[in-house]
Amino acid sequence: MPSKTPDFFDTGALVGVLTTQPLDRVLDYRAPEGGCWLGAYVEVPLGPRKVLGVVWGPGRGDFDASKIRAINRVLDVAPMREEMRLFIEKSAAYTLTPLTAMLRLATRAPGLGDPPSMRKVYRLGDGEPPRMTDARTRVLDAAREMGGLSLTLKELAEAAGVTSSVVKGLVKSGAILEEDTPRDTAFARLDAEYGGKELTEDQATAAEVLREGQRSGRYETVLLKGVTGSGKTEVYLEAVAEALRQGRQALVLLPEIALSAEFLTRVEARFGARPAEWHSGVTMTERRRVWRMVGEGKAQVVVGARSALFLPFQNLGVIVVDEEHDTSYKQEDGVLYNARDMAVLRASILGTQVVLASATPALESWANADAGKYKRLVLTSRFGPAVMPQMRALDMRGEDLPSGTWISPSLQAAVRVRMQKGEQALLFLNRRGYAPVTLCRACGEQIACDHCDARMVEHRFLKRLICHQCGESKPVPEVCPSCQVEGKLAAVGPGVERLAEEATAKFPDARIAVLSSDLFGTARELKAQIETIAAGGADIIIGTQLVAKGHNFPHLTLVGVIDADLGLQGSDLRAAERTFQLMRQVAGRAGRAEKPGQALLQTFQPEHPVIRAILAGDEEAFWKAEADERRLAGMPPYGRLAGIILSGGDVARVFDLGNFLARNDAALRRVDAVVWGPAPAPIARVRGRHRVRLLVKAPKGVALQGALADWAGQVKLTGDLRMAIDIDPQSFF
Ligand code: ADP
Ligand code: ZN
Repeated sequence: MPSKTPDFFDTGALVGVLTTQPLDRVLDYRAPEGGCWLGAYVEVPLGPRKVLGVVWGPGRGDFDASKIRAINRVLDVAPMREEMRLFIEKSAAYTLTPLTAMLRLATRAPGLGDPPSMRKVYRLGDGEPPRMTDARTRVLDAAREMGGLSLTLKELAEAAGVTSSVVKGLVKSGAILEEDTPRDTAFARLDAEYGGKELTEDQATAAEVLREGQRSGRYETVLLKGVTGSGKTEVYLEAVAEALRQGRQALVLLPEIALSAEFLTRVEARFGARPAEWHSGVTMTERRRVWRMVGEGKAQVVVGARSALFLPFQNLGVIVVDEEHDTSYKQEDGVLYNARDMAVLRASILGTQVVLASATPALESWANADAGKYKRLVLTSRFGPAVMPQMRALDMRGEDLPSGTWISPSLQAAVRVRMQKGEQALLFLNRRGYAPVTLCRACGEQIACDHCDARMVEHRFLKRLICHQCGESKPVPEVCPSCQVEGKLAAVGPGVERLAEEATAKFPDARIAVLSSDLFGTARELKAQIETIAAGGADIIIGTQLVAKGHNFPHLTLVGVIDADLGLQGSDLRAAERTFQLMRQVAGRAGRAEKPGQALLQTFQPEHPVIRAILAGDEEAFWKAEADERRLAGMPPYGRLAGIILSGGDVARVFDLGNFLARNDAALRRVDAVVWGPAPAPIARVRGRHRVRLLVKAPKGVALQGALADWAGQVKLTGDLRMAIDIDPQSFF
């Protein structure tokens, strides 16, 4: 922002306001009575409505002065800092996203500007209602689910799916308690010196490097690499402690926030109080509280999902991105941003530290460390007696396995050994549902989604077929929808539910627990299940990639990977990298406590380079080989990619648009970029819309965004045609 920008506007001065509405410019308004600060959150009239905005700078004055309206009011929250405005501008420019959409991300809390006041909240009481109804039971169940926590009337009614009068009705009998609480209270103070562990030599060295980096007060990115269980969390919590000592805030980003129960407890054990949480499971009232308290510096540590990066921190000292390789950091709809990359951007604007932690970093991060752009800290051994599990391939070509079953005799034997010792075994399969394909044995038809180009996946627990692309579901039909023959539909291939069925048949005495994201109604149920398993409440765990993320199952000593080849088949640039990471993570689940672990990988291609690198545990070799291949091909991180998805209801029009763009590529050629396509996107139809893909490849270091904007700007999208530009695409869908 130019330094001549005034930071206060007197009453009536012309100011530019960025609103959260999808308009492509900053709008002119007059400063209200009493004036306003640059960065002030304001409410402005827009047509008949009142909308949220931020004072972004002086007005442009290119609009009929007599029609310019005044700002309604300045909201009672701290103005947006210059650093945050810059972050919004730069991240918008990087991702080619309108500023307004970026501002929406940064203001996702309801009632931001409401004055502080008391509010009524509701929680479970001891009273008995005189008469029970279905609706009342649902309210009490919903309140019980919240434990001791309170909800607003609206939240509780919505959680129970009833009208608010049902809740009110329960207040009379004391079954539900109604209380007044102040809104937006500060979070408990965290104490940097509360519960630090004594670190090993390796850990202490790494922690000291992080502390020093923070004391320097300069921007730096540190890649903290270490096998699962080596104490990365302990080490980065020391960076958080250092931020606290300096009176600054810390942000810890986690990929799958639903699974953070264990993590929050750890943070509490280290600092003596719970941090603020920010993710989709947080209630609306709590969101508002977190947003405001972060802005006032009354929330010192935030543990959150990727969008926590857009919170209005007052004085951020460190950002930690845990499991930085995780693909869920990339938001795949709406604003297409990668939270890991944006965390680095935000830290560089702030002049602060960002720590990327992983056992298996993304190739991008590995390459940046290799090139000396990122600092690299390595923890080489697991903490305490735990050692990395022994890994072995089970060559499926030599296993005698009846069709329709997937647990090989060798794996079965290994599971039995563990069960006899009272230890746990995990069978890992990265496929939700019962079977990925439902086939008609009479006509060969595979049941597909009516709206997408995807096969429907049978979910037997739910007794439905579900499209994993759009979420559409229908009952499993009795007759084939194509040939009308009855009783010939058959499940083909395994999902975790089917694997559980097989395991139940093969191990009738075992207690079997299935961990798959769609089997749990709420994040809380999932947490409870994980805790039960950790406490030894299951003999065999069957899970999808949910289990690959940081839980600690101390009794787990065997991991059987049902289909190690699954990730190698995709047409995805990152298939090998993903498989490598996932296998290492899953194997890292075994033998975390004092018992040694073992990992068995069922594969039909044990000589595949990726499988061999996994087995050898030779990460550097894997990365070097993968890096060489990408460098030769000019692929990321040694070149740049942008994906362009065009979509619309009429396939011919979508292709016409794609062809036009492919032919008129002068703007791209200016920066030596090439364009491939148009081609049908890997998922060519979603929700009835045809999707066509172009891929732009450019050398590293060119001004790709500007060229893309000029190139895409040649066309005007009419009717239902849409274009989405995905910078650094992660998935090729
Ligand atoms: P990572 O994040 O690398 O997977 P963690 O930090 O979770 O590793 O450490 C694995 C386990 O070892 C945790 O239970 C942790 O509390 C414990 N641990 C690690 N380092 C220490 C230490 N220096 N003192 C005591 N316990 C430790
Ligand atoms: Zn669908």
